[in-house]
Amino acid sequence: MEKSNINNHQNINQTDNFCCPVSLQNYSVITLAHGSGGRLTYQLIQKIFGPAFINPELDTNHDSAILTLNNQKLAFTTDSYTVSPLFFPGGDIGKLAITGTVNDLAMAGARPLWLSAGFIIEEGLPVDVLTQIVESMKHTAKQAGVNIVTGDTKVVDKGKGDGVFINTSGIGIIEHNQKIHPSQVKAGDVVIINGDIGRHGIAIMIKRSGLQLESAIQSDCALLNGLVFELINSGVEIHCMRDLTRGGLATALIEISRTSNTLMTIEEANVPVIEDVKSACELLGLDPLYVANEGRMIAIVPEKHCSKCLDIMKKHKLGLDPAVIGSVDNSSEARVLLRNSLGTTRILEMLTGEQLPRIC
Ligand code: MG
Repeated sequence: MEKSNINNHQNINQTDNFCCPVSLQNYSVITLAHGSGGRLTYQLIQKIFGPAFINPELDTNHDSAILTLNNQKLAFTTDSYTVSPLFFPGGDIGKLAITGTVNDLAMAGARPLWLSAGFIIEEGLPVDVLTQIVESMKHTAKQAGVNIVTGDTKVVDKGKGDGVFINTSGIGIIEHNQKIHPSQVKAGDVVIINGDIGRHGIAIMIKRSGLQLESAIQSDCALLNGLVFELINSGVEIHCMRDLTRGGLATALIEISRTSNTLMTIEEANVPVIEDVKSACELLGLDPLYVANEGRMIAIVPEKHCSKCLDIMKKHKLGLDPAVIGSVDNSSEARVLLRNSLGTTRILEMLTGEQLPRIC
């Protein structure tokens, strides 16, 4: 042990042979960054959850597991919501808990049908606050066309929760023959986004920090199942869809690139970011590519279906500013390149730390 420390001290003075004495990725305890959706979350799944739970249906690369029952394909997903604060511009934890799970089913190409709702409530939460959250869930579930068919309530001691945490699981039905999965992405595909990025994360961070900005940025929190339904029913061939939640656009692209073993090149100038979000990101030291969204998605489609996909998104109320942001090529190494307006590229990497804790 001592010998290794001595060696490390010696190395610090040798810049050509520098090594960090503690690996930044080898934690013995869980940190907030393990919940970031970035590199450390990926490690937890690869090293702990994946090997422990391995079975033919477990899919750690998709937004839902795809199950077959009596020749009927179903999608099944779950998500927990710990957002702080409980209420934020453009939404609340209740709206988020329905939207997030419905959107994960939609990203698998499924029509969402049934949801469960589990509540972990901290002692002392005002009943009025819980009622408001539940009303929001009821309204959002109605909009999505889903029923909450089972649930659970637990209460923890004061100081051992943060108001309320919600878990929702969802089941949806797959009524088409398309195989929509990150592994289906191939050279010649294009990456289309349905709107500008960064609003949800920035809305939360501004509310949390108490910053007073001239214009209020609202979360983009919205149901995507209607838009997905239109894309599929219009015959658009979709290879993969992903909602751009925790970890943002960059993390979603990196995950898909790894699963499909492809090279993706993203044109930075084509990625829509509104000025208010850009300014807030500069102020808070955040990169909008990694900031969470709750109503934004990418569809990766063959080039020949690009204009049809764009047209449908433009006509839909959630396709506010759809754009083709990149393309897919074969590569010996799976990676995502970001090309700026000068034509120079850099590799996008998964974040190691936690940019925005408790964002969803
Ligand atoms: Mg998702």
